Amino acid sequence: MSVVTEPVIDLSPAIAVRNPRTGELLYTLDEASSADIERTYATARAAFRAVRAMSVRERIAETQKLQRYILANKEAIISRIVAETGKSRMDALLSEIFTVLETIAFYSKNAEKMLADESVKTPVLLMGKQSRIFYEPMGAVLVIVPWNYPFNLMLNPVLGAFLAGNSVIIKPSEYTPLRGLVEDILDGSGFMKDAIQIVYGGKTTGQQLIDGRPAKILFTGSVRAGHKVMEQASKYLIPVELELGGKDAMLVFEDANLDRAVNGAIWGGMSNSGQTCTAVERVLVHESVYDTFVSSIKEKIEKLSNASGDAAKNDCGNLDVGCMTADFQVAIVQDQVADAMAKGATIVTGGKRIGDSHVFQPTVVTNVSDSMKIVREETFGPVLTIQKFKTEDEAVRMANDSPYGLSGSVWSGDLARAERVARRIETGSVSINNVIATLANPALPFGGVKDSGFGRYKGAHGLHAFSNIKSIMIDKPGAPNELNWYPYTKEKYGLFSKMMDAAYGGGFFATLKAMLTGIKLQRLGKKQKL
Ligand code: NAD
Repeated sequence: MSVVTEPVIDLSPAIAVRNPRTGELLYTLDEASSADIERTYATARAAFRAVRAMSVRERIAETQKLQRYILANKEAIISRIVAETGKSRMDALLSEIFTVLETIAFYSKNAEKMLADESVKTPVLLMGKQSRIFYEPMGAVLVIVPWNYPFNLMLNPVLGAFLAGNSVIIKPSEYTPLRGLVEDILDGSGFMKDAIQIVYGGKTTGQQLIDGRPAKILFTGSVRAGHKVMEQASKYLIPVELELGGKDAMLVFEDANLDRAVNGAIWGGMSNSGQTCTAVERVLVHESVYDTFVSSIKEKIEKLSNASGDAAKNDCGNLDVGCMTADFQVAIVQDQVADAMAKGATIVTGGKRIGDSHVFQPTVVTNVSDSMKIVREETFGPVLTIQKFKTEDEAVRMANDSPYGLSGSVWSGDLARAERVARRIETGSVSINNVIATLANPALPFGGVKDSGFGRYKGAHGLHAFSNIKSIMIDKPGAPNELNWYPYTKEKYGLFSKMMDAAYGGGFFATLKAMLTGIKLQRLGKKQKL
């Protein structure tokens, strides 16, 4: 008897990847299958054995292949990034390409030293022993990437993870997967096979990849998804690092170079259409310079070119503000501006989406209050709010009055004051008389506090974040017994107790007294046998 089977209908919803400037459908993707994910982990775990066996110098040589390839093909790579994100070419050149090239250059000079075994001090009471720290690889690790910097926020953590000796699985955002680009770079550059793999798909693929039990997860994305990732990872006790959203404040004091501060606010708020986790969102200005600041920012911001006209079509690096990437994010920005207006805010400039495009006008909003979403929630669009403060304390209080704590900036001619205020701001980084500047230096660790997440990458932290930090204590093989080992006796107890009193009680000759007691303990140890 023949068995009649129903035709198999693929119900998996395709993910449509579109050009945000034109709406053109670029391609579609499906969620990865469980077979794809299993295969990826099997390959990654096999590749891990090869990567861990390499010296750091050999791994650096691999990353330098990427550097040469990216440099030689940067215009084509930028075109791919622009097609999927809608950002301006200059934003892509500086914030995507430059940061990756600079990270490779930095680690090429420093990774060996940062991953070398470290000798650390051993206390006198542990005389004769040596203490070391080994930085060892962890395994096949997972890097989950958002859509706002699909190249930079993918490769920067991946470079640290690979140099520390891990194989890496990348899960790009479904909005900007850059399908095939990483494969082209890896193959074209002659990078070692299988050490870095990429799995395309959306949230479901991300969840399945977590179920594959990577050795570590570095997640960059929204607070909402960060909660979910941590919850799922906790089932398997997978260590996670969460790089989440921000609501950065820019504090402008009365003695700041106002022209510079206005230009900084505009770039910090509008570059990448404000879709930067460390974008300036809240500008706090001393009351004495507030009016000048607001009128100057209005005048200057209106000179920026945006992606609504020919400037976008002919962008050869001269378009200022690109368009926004995701439709849902444009809707969030519209909603926040409408909410602010309904509650009495003033739109100094901008405030509108151009038609149904992804272009949102560079916008400045004043007369805002804490009841408005635009003040409390991450905006992630080309919008700045400006508020006044009277005193340093008030400025710090306003800056810290946010669930987020990613970054911020302080603007003052008095560097001592700027540093003092920078210390009081509850964030993972602060730029002084600059914006988003800490991100440009690959030697500086990056990460946030509060709802902005935890953990650090870049710099030495970017390597150690992906290392099993192993402590080693080396003792001589000769002596048959140790003083703190058995047998325990009353006499030994007394001598240990006396030695602690001497060592930590302070006073004259404390160290000498402790050492003398130590010698008595040594003699006792030689007599007492188990
Ligand atoms: P998102 O959280 O929606 O998605 C980020 C990535 O996580 C995507 O690849 C997505 O497919 C995946 N994902 C979503 N849910 C998941 C789940 N439950 N399990 C596994 N994977 C899941 O974020 P987004 O909209 O792509 O990015 C914008 C957000 O990212 C903003 O809040 C922004 O501030 C933040 N961000 C933070 C940093 C930082 O370093 N702190 C940098 C850039 C962006």
